[in-house]
Amino acid sequence: MMAEKMNFAWGHKRRYNDFGTYMRSHFKGTVQKVSVNAGLTCPNRDGNKGYGGCTFCNNDTFKPTYCQPDIRVKEQLSRGIDLFKAKHPDTKYLAYFQAYTNTYGDISQLIDLYEEALSTPEVIGLIVGTRPDCLPDSLLDYFQDLSKRQYLTVELGIESTSDLTLLRVRRGHDYKCTIDAVENLVSRGILTGAHLILGLPGESRQEMLNHADVISQLPINFLKVHQLQYVKGSILGADFMKNPEKYEVFELDEYIELVVEFITRVRPNIVMERFASQAPYNMLLAPNWKLKNFEMARMVEKRLEELDVWQGKYWKGSNA
Ligand code: SF4
Repeated sequence: MMAEKMNFAWGHKRRYNDFGTYMRSHFKGTVQKVSVNAGLTCPNRDGNKGYGGCTFCNNDTFKPTYCQPDIRVKEQLSRGIDLFKAKHPDTKYLAYFQAYTNTYGDISQLIDLYEEALSTPEVIGLIVGTRPDCLPDSLLDYFQDLSKRQYLTVELGIESTSDLTLLRVRRGHDYKCTIDAVENLVSRGILTGAHLILGLPGESRQEMLNHADVISQLPINFLKVHQLQYVKGSILGADFMKNPEKYEVFELDEYIELVVEFITRVRPNIVMERFASQAPYNMLLAPNWKLKNFEMARMVEKRLEELDVWQGKYWKGSNA
């Protein structure tokens, strides 16, 4: 009965539309993301929109050791691929431009970086992480052409659908900017992902759940959500250390309940890429659950089963 109610694109057994199943189905094999650090910056750090970055941000929290901006993109990819190759010889790779804003800079230099990544034999596509306010038309034209010849996803840091929250975290753009960016990408046939943080300061549980309803109205393909992490080297982390009593920190059980309810409100055909993030222990202040992403995914799946709910159970819109 549950399978009838779920309207997932490829009929798998899970209670949410999981990224691993999507990737295996799309590529007919195993695909692994390999991060690259292209040495770019972001407008919220270089003074174009602000200095010091979004309050929650420290890019060092997701930088593997081979990912150094002074190493060429192709070399970073080779080193990253070498970590998997011996055990998984048939795996293909997507170059993941993750750190900072990967569409911010001189357009021809950006295109050279993407093409350098794509010239790596094992790399079959790109995932490009960016902000919604950094997508000039000339780059969108390139992405439109690129996505006809290679796999491409543009992943937007949206973080919140609330303008008040975006202001509080010094994001430097509003939610309307996100709506426009998604429409520009999707109208050009470019696969589009969104990234949201649950637990940003000042947001109530209800507001966090509301993000699921609001973001599901956008024609995005992928969604990543994770808990707010207080990390060293961020504005929020510094204030958290001084005044911890000002901030809410999720208990693990509380966060799983929130994510499960969130999922029930997400449009069924959005592919859910992850529910948690884990900064390196030496950088993480809180919450310290010591859980890998797959362990969190299992706990979420178990709770979905216990409650007999599934992705989109309470989504009231159409399957855009
Ligand atoms: S989260 Fe992204 S946009 Fe914000 S400061 Fe960090 S790199 Fe820049």
